[in-house]
Amino acid sequence: MISLNNQELLDIPISEFIISAEKVAHVQNNNSAEHALLVLTKTGYSSIPVLDLKYRIEGLLSIKMITEAILGLEEIEYDKLTDLKVNDIMDKEVAVLKETDTFQKALDIVINHAFICVIDEEGTFTGILTRRVILKQLKKYIYQK
Ligand code: AMP
Repeated sequence: MISLNNQELLDIPISEFIISAEKVAHVQNNNSAEHALLVLTKTGYSSIPVLDLKYRIEGLLSIKMITEAILGLEEIEYDKLTDLKVNDIMDKEVAVLKETDTFQKALDIVINHAFICVIDEEGTFTGILTRRVILKQLKKYIYQK
């Protein structure tokens, strides 16, 4: 049986595993849905963070949220894309971790989220932690033992 009795990995701060903010695709809450759709389509990510002008995390946005917002009764109302703002359609429930939080805390959260937004002590967005990175670290640790 595989066991992680030893706290070594679980106690490591997540700061070591973060994809830094400058490498993370994001949109701003006042961007149009059209712009957001372009960013999501071009990057190929299913969901990306929404930030305000001060780089604070405001929500998450996916293509599904945009499509649902422009779905009429019988057709997709594409003309709505220019007027709708990201702020109107984003999901404001965001899983957030601090840079100083541990791998153990991240492990609990990534069960339900493909990625987690990370903030510093001032609440500024510093990057994301993905389920892929967590699993990679876990695999490395298990095979080394
Ligand atoms: P991954 O584990 O690499 O497949 O990433 C899981 C999810 O995290 C992706 O579907 C995106 O929603 C998000 N993600 C990963 N990398 C980035 C990035 N560089 N910019 C924005 N979102 C990202």
